[in-house]
Amino acid sequence: MSGAAFDYLRAGDVGQALAAGARPGAAYLAGGTDLMPLWKARAEAPGLVVDISRLPLAGIGVGDEGVLRLGALARLSDVAADPAVAGRWPLAVEAIRASASGQVRNMGTVGGVLMQRTRCAYFRNDALACNKRAPGSGCGARAGENRGHAIFGASAACCATHPSDLAVALVALDAEIEAAGRGGTRRIAAGELHRLPEATPEADTVLELGELITAVEVPPCPGTRSTYLKVRDRASFEFAVVSVAAVLRVQDGRIAHARLVAGGVAPKPWRLAPSEAALLGKAPTEDAFAEAAALAVEGAEPLAHNGFKIELLSRAVRRALQTVGAPA
Ligand code: SF4
Repeated sequence: MSGAAFDYLRAGDVGQALAAGARPGAAYLAGGTDLMPLWKARAEAPGLVVDISRLPLAGIGVGDEGVLRLGALARLSDVAADPAVAGRWPLAVEAIRASASGQVRNMGTVGGVLMQRTRCAYFRNDALACNKRAPGSGCGARAGENRGHAIFGASAACCATHPSDLAVALVALDAEIEAAGRGGTRRIAAGELHRLPEATPEADTVLELGELITAVEVPPCPGTRSTYLKVRDRASFEFAVVSVAAVLRVQDGRIAHARLVAGGVAPKPWRLAPSEAALLGKAPTEDAFAEAAALAVEGAEPLAHNGFKIELLSRAVRRALQTVGAPA
């Protein structure tokens, strides 16, 4: 099976990429690990493919302020192998290593993994109804097979989950996304990049037509401990049923900083803000972790086949907190 014919342009610089990417029906191609399978499945049919893979956006470095800067075209395997990233932002490395396969990580890029589209089977089969792929056609998953779908943030139009592991970790690390458009460059908090479906599920992110992620910046996180806990149906090359990124800093026996973000449960990385707030100022005890785990699932709205995610998420939060909150 293959998709429809398209025009192809290899961008020589960012300006040329942005000009071409702003044309209706254009799609950026970096590692191609998501776009090409989608094209083959006819879930995406770009009229113009703008190849950005040779743009000079693959750098990995730490700046004077101790901020990690990942070029959008940095390969996931290169990020995971970088000693500075491994030493200072191990959560990012853990999330990358939990993603996909070694081969995919060798091709996949930082920008691409943030832009990857949902794994909803209805989205990836053009014979089935899907508002995200074909607006107005209906949501096959809502009354159909929805075991892997959202328990938070869904709408009547779409209940798909976002699939990126790294995106979940980057929200927990308070990262920022740098995006270039024809009007200039802007910065977006990682937690604000992806949007909820509401009535327009065809748009996954807040990026405007032609806008291109150029880099991700991650602030230093001294004194923290972190973990990425991913629960999946098989041990590798599998997306999260539920995942949790946890970052904790304990100072003088009290929790001074907490970030908890869940994956596999919402159309975007799902910040567990009430759990974070409940942890602050408390000693890292089992009682505190249990309270945070209970708060994590308040307000969940399961579908017919994914109610098990509520208990799974609660337990995953508690397990992640036990990992980062255990005595050093
Ligand atoms: Fe499409 Fe979203 Fe419904 Fe899946 S959940 S079928 S992606 S509209």
